[in-house]
Amino acid sequence: MTKPKIYITRKLPEENIQILKDQADVEMWDDEWKPVPKDILFEKIKQADGVLTMLTERVDKNFFDQAPHLKIVANMAVGYDNIDIQEAQKRGIITTNTPDVLTETTADLTFALMMATARRLIEASEYVKAGQWKNWGPFLLAGKDLYGKTVGIVGMGRIGAAVAKRCKGFDMNILYHNRSRDPEAEQEYDASYVSFEDLLKASDFVVCLTPLTNETEGMFNQQAFELMKNDAVFVNVGRGPVVDEQALYEALKTGEIGGAGLDVFSEEPIQQDHPLLSLKQAVILPHIGSASIDTRNAMIDLAVKNLHQVLIENKPPVTPIK
Ligand code: NAP
Repeated sequence: MTKPKIYITRKLPEENIQILKDQADVEMWDDEWKPVPKDILFEKIKQADGVLTMLTERVDKNFFDQAPHLKIVANMAVGYDNIDIQEAQKRGIITTNTPDVLTETTADLTFALMMATARRLIEASEYVKAGQWKNWGPFLLAGKDLYGKTVGIVGMGRIGAAVAKRCKGFDMNILYHNRSRDPEAEQEYDASYVSFEDLLKASDFVVCLTPLTNETEGMFNQQAFELMKNDAVFVNVGRGPVVDEQALYEALKTGEIGGAGLDVFSEEPIQQDHPLLSLKQAVILPHIGSASIDTRNAMIDLAVKNLHQVLIENKPPVTPIK
């Protein structure tokens, strides 16, 4: 029997993919930092039965057209807005993601962003390193409390609920908004279901953890920021295009809202001249929500396991995208 062919779009540790290498022909792009150029990718997937992708690959009709033998796309992310799922389904190609294994790590980062933005941690560190710390003052770099405040979570899913757990430990009042109610979160974290508008009006912290879909794209627009409190902190760890970045910039600049903690952007990497980078009340991270060493290894292992199940064991994948 011929071995299945697998292409991996980024350099990953050998030990994580050894289980595939034993029983498949595995090829891997040899750069950890740069995505594989499209012409090389399209050449490599011509013979591939399976491909392990990152969120930097656009897996669309054009991609599938180059890969006539493809049986599975294993994405190393829980979000799958980079994949045209309908097109994959039409062609009978299995798609998988990496849910659960990154939930707690991403919730940690979300909570850290809430804290860093509210308590001005990055600004304070830069202040000291720039030699500006000459005196103590009663309101020197004074920020906002988290303890006892109201948090509004838009997208109370796996990560949203893990953020709620952390917020409960800080005695925060928890509001949430989804398309459907989540009785478990209501019971477990005393979370109250409210409309999107009511959440925006009442929250001291507005946290976005929705996936990027046609429905959520541009959800946080000028109107949304106008509804928020003037000292509200907005945190986005979902996906960049859920936010109208120009509207967010205006809202921060004019004092419509108080601060923003952002891990994701419409264009990644963000352009160096992006106006958001000029604001000290915006904390900007390079999409590191799930970036702990343990979790990144767990995500690779789960993507590898999905490929193994489908191409070697001839079994259903562990975490299919439904
Ligand atoms: P999940 O369990 O599927 O949760 C998503 C939540 O969003 C669900 O509660 C869903 O509830 C809600 N939602 C979906 N569409 C909505 C809409 N139109 N309006 C309001 N709520 C909506 O997913 P997860 O594992 O928590 O991950 C969430 C997202 O976080 C991922 O899709 C990914 O984009 C992002 N993420 C980012 C990082 C990072 O590094 N920054 C890391 C991991 C994940 P309903 O279906 O009831 O609406």
